[in-house]
Amino acid sequence: MKPVIALVGRPNVGKSTIFNRLTRSRDALVADYAGLTRDRIYGTVREENLDFILIDTGGLTDQTDNMSDLMRKQAKLAIDEADLVLFIVDGRAGLMPSDTDVAQQLRSDGKPVRLVINKTEGEQREMVAADFYSLGLGEPQVISATQGRGFTELLEEIKVCLPQAEVLFEEEDEATDDRPDDIRLAVLGRPNVGKSTLINRLLGEERVVAFDEPGTTRDSIHIPFEKDGVNYTLIDTAGVRRRSKVSEKLEKFSVLKTLQALEDANVALLVLDAHEGIVEQDLHLAGLILESGRAVVLAVNKWDGLEKSEREWVATNIERRLPFMNFAKTHFISALHGSGVGLLLKTVRQAYQSAMTKVPTSRLTRVLEDAVSDHQPPLVRGRRIKFRYAHLGGKNPPRIIIHGNQTDATPNSYKRYLENYFRDVLKLQGTPVMIEFKTSD
Ligand code: GDP
Ligand code: GDP
Repeated sequence: MKPVIALVGRPNVGKSTIFNRLTRSRDALVADYAGLTRDRIYGTVREENLDFILIDTGGLTDQTDNMSDLMRKQAKLAIDEADLVLFIVDGRAGLMPSDTDVAQQLRSDGKPVRLVINKTEGEQREMVAADFYSLGLGEPQVISATQGRGFTELLEEIKVCLPQAEVLFEEEDEATDDRPDDIRLAVLGRPNVGKSTLINRLLGEERVVAFDEPGTTRDSIHIPFEKDGVNYTLIDTAGVRRRSKVSEKLEKFSVLKTLQALEDANVALLVLDAHEGIVEQDLHLAGLILESGRAVVLAVNKWDGLEKSEREWVATNIERRLPFMNFAKTHFISALHGSGVGLLLKTVRQAYQSAMTKVPTSRLTRVLEDAVSDHQPPLVRGRRIKFRYAHLGGKNPPRIIIHGNQTDATPNSYKRYLENYFRDVLKLQGTPVMIEFKTSD
């Protein structure tokens, strides 16, 4: 499981600036879509061979808390959810009494903590550090979040403190090719949309009770099953087993659990409730899914017992509020009665195959040439953008890398045109497709 790092510190020390700097590499997928905001509290960091989830605990506490309540809540959250705490202090303001209190709380819990001094541009390392040794947190990392100073060293230090965050070997395509497919399907949706009912449907009642793994607030239950000769692993965020056997208490929606499930999955099945249409939390989930780059299937549940006019309203509502998921296929189902459920897995398989697609450079380049001859890219400062060739740079989601001259100047509208063109010709359904440009000018 992906390790989790939490940022803790007083307001204004620079936590969100640090958060944005570290998570920015993941902006690409979401940035294009107006109206879809990123989650500014939880993010994924992939840099310098590191791979971890970052939490800005400052974003989780509400405005009305006084300082000590605020800090206590942050520290508690970090202790509960994180593997490593980065305790941020302000090098300009110097040591504050509340810094000392929080340091003590963190130290007494025994959670690994690293001290990070921010806002140190133009200062000498030793000078700023001296102020904070009394916190008893050891040698500090000295950074400037606005200028990006000290981040390489900070990431190196994270590797030392949290070896499980380091990616030692990138998974080789060749190595995985011979293995039979295992489609890892995360079943996601806000509480009460019918995830557990659907999972039970997919598995058949008798299979569910067999799984008896312990669970914490941040992990999901993985349930392997086979259907029509295909192996699946269902990633159950609803806690079917826990709820049916241990208690009837509803699981709370947890962003961290969702992120972990998406990391483990190839395909996300987003379950929606036809009786309620799209609500804010559905959008939040959709944003997290989009940002993860996973393939997506939409299941609009509780389709039973709706009037025709209600059904039309729901279908329109989804199109209007989730336009950024228009690459995903939508199924209207009733998990309770079983209608429509049988077809879901077929779409899941298609989405998986699209996400894992392999296309040789020659084919991609030919499609690129066709796209260009159908519709020329625009002129930039009197010169035409020139594309030379395209190759596949990754899967789940497919990344199509286009090489040429002045490709950086390609307008978004043309990029979208290329994306749709590749999607149509290569029959990529149910997965985001990323177009990236490399320029040789
Ligand atoms: P948070 O409340 O801890 O999340 O702090 P923010 O990230 O919102 O930063 C608070 C203020 O400090 C903002 O005006 C930032 O631009 C500024 N800031 C953040 N990092 C640095 C830094 O390295 N140097 C300086 N001089 N200012 C910084
Ligand atoms: P979860 O919290 O997402 O796992 O939701 P559950 O599977 O526990 O379902 C929540 C409620 O919705 C339960 O009362 C279910 O019986 C009901 N429900 C689930 N699927 C359907 C459906 O297809 N139609 C109708 N009418 N109710 C359903």
